[in-house]
Amino acid sequence: MPFHRHTMKVTPQNVQQFTKQLSMFNVGDDCPVFDGLFDFCSMYTGATLEGAIKLNNNHCDIAVNWSGGLHHAKKFEASGFCYVNDIVIGILELLKYHPRVLYIDIDIHHGDGVQEAFYLTDRVMTVSFHKYGNYFFPGTGDMYEVGAESGRYYSVNVPLKEGIDDATYLSCFQPVIKSVMDFYRPTCVVLQCGADSLGSDRLGCFNLSITGHGECVKVVKDYGIPMLVLGGGGYTKRNVARCWTYETGVLLDEQISNEIPYNEYLEYFAPDFNLHPDISTKQDNLNTKQYLDNIRQTVHENLRGLTNSPSVQMQDIPPDLLSLENTEEQDPDVQNHQDEVDKRVEPPNEFYDGDKDNDKENDGFLDV
Ligand SMILES: [Zn+2]
Repeated sequence: MPFHRHTMKVTPQNVQQFTKQLSMFNVGDDCPVFDGLFDFCSMYTGATLEGAIKLNNNHCDIAVNWSGGLHHAKKFEASGFCYVNDIVIGILELLKYHPRVLYIDIDIHHGDGVQEAFYLTDRVMTVSFHKYGNYFFPGTGDMYEVGAESGRYYSVNVPLKEGIDDATYLSCFQPVIKSVMDFYRPTCVVLQCGADSLGSDRLGCFNLSITGHGECVKVVKDYGIPMLVLGGGGYTKRNVARCWTYETGVLLDEQISNEIPYNEYLEYFAPDFNLHPDISTKQDNLNTKQYLDNIRQTVHENLRGLTNSPSVQMQDIPPDLLSLENTEEQDPDVQNHQDEVDKRVEPPNEFYDGDKDNDKENDGFLDV
């Protein structure tokens, strides 16, 4: 849904006056109006955008926004509790500096909004692992959705069946990501870490453990490419909190104790009070070896069909969408002069000749 003037005014109290406009943008059943809707959208989208800008300016090598990752929103339509697609907005910002952005989505639902936004371009490759079939939401993302025109073979879909466990998921995730990295050679990665792919999720039907989900994050991180890490779905709240806490540790190379320390939400983690309780279910894994072999092979053949690492022409660079100076004034980290303390990490980006190339003073820009 676009940042429409009505989004700023509508509340549960006056919602009746906006019926026509809201139905036009699919606001209603799955995407209700609630108090603070506009602020909610501004905050999660602003945080993703700020992460993208920090990556562009080499202020960090990994940026994390667990409140972002709302991958279903479309340009003119809210969908699946997503109102504004912060991922698309973040990627558009990254494209001002990066020739090739890779989007990876491990939410149980297909990353349809992001795929749709970049379906016709080779500047972004989208790779989504998700449950597919039996009318599972949103209903798109079969293996044969591969992109179109200049974007042909730059959309990758891995449709999975219910009950998938860690070993089976990783036997698919690792080789697919390796092929994607080999063939596409992205200069930046956006990873959507929807936690509804965990076992025991209220809406999901996969059977991943928190360590299995976190292993995907580690696999991607180990390629050492600048990375924007986002949240997404997740409907058993205590496990969403566990998962993203664990993954923050993975991203920081920090071991976290299995014992959850005292905090005001501790009762949510009863009876075990652990970071890694057994969350598996007795559900059968319907993904046979033959089924997965077929997916892996098709994906690999499609990737072989694409032009290696597309490049782009340099043009005028538009300004950053947010001023880092302004955002940093309100950032508590700045009290420690965080940006000076942080080691500046140069992305391994073969597209640019020297470290001045990405500077704002420079006019070099990549065309979208
Ligand atoms: Zn989801």
